[in-house]
Amino acid sequence: MRIVVKIGTSTLTHSTGLINIRRVEQLCRVLSDLKNAGHDIIMVSSGAIGMGVGKLSLNEKPTDIPTKQACAALGQCELMYTYDQEFSKYNHNVAQILITSADVENEKYHNNFRNTLSRLVELGVIPIINENDSISTEEISIGDNDTLGAIVAVSVNADLIIILSDIDGLYDKNPRTNPDAKLISEVREITPEITVMGGSAGSGLATGGMHTKIKAAHIVTEKGIDMVIANGSNPDCLYKIVEGGSVGTRFYGRK
Ligand code: ADP
Repeated sequence: MRIVVKIGTSTLTHSTGLINIRRVEQLCRVLSDLKNAGHDIIMVSSGAIGMGVGKLSLNEKPTDIPTKQACAALGQCELMYTYDQEFSKYNHNVAQILITSADVENEKYHNNFRNTLSRLVELGVIPIINENDSISTEEISIGDNDTLGAIVAVSVNADLIIILSDIDGLYDKNPRTNPDAKLISEVREITPEITVMGGSAGSGLATGGMHTKIKAAHIVTEKGIDMVIANGSNPDCLYKIVEGGSVGTRFYGRK
């Protein structure tokens, strides 16, 4: 299978903004093992700004654009350094691609992006994609990595995209404010009811929330790709997801 795995900031870092070492080690071990089993792995990783904030020991996420972009530049280095080290333990190579919306809207650039991605996968490399937050402005920003994950999944003709979040999956209402919310384990059609279930961004360092995940599900399921939202706190769940087991919320691609 060709699998895109999107990792949210909250999966990679502690609430301090510093890297969650145990989590990242587990994640890279499981992804390496899935790759050893013959699957193609493509990652979309958030976390650059959060890591930059942690590295500079800033007390909170900056609000001004130059500091945010500086943190992204600093944190992206740290992020890739960490992935490179972890995947090297299992003899896997990683490669970084940073894009903005201009790179997917312009046909020529998009083709180049697709070709490079395909070649990297053929070469047995694990591509790690992120938005180019250091130069991205509002006009050219994709905006969130759930959408970026969906764009990547379509670009590489993935079979499956797994979105690792800070929550078990999509609930019928926001479980942070509704303790009786129920997990929805399967979505075969994205109805208007499903669409309204997404709230706004939940955690301090993250930007997405459920609405961007449902938007991503729209993009991929239209192309026949399955999407699973699962909790990133236990990377071992990836095995079960790949085997088709019931974990989190699975959106079924249109066949
Ligand atoms: P991540 O970066 O890990 O993907 P986000 O904060 O972007 O995390 O998105 C997950 C958050 O979305 C949850 O922690 C929760 O606060 C919020 N949320 C809003 N509505 C829902 C819902 N219906 N089901 C699940 N989570 C929801």
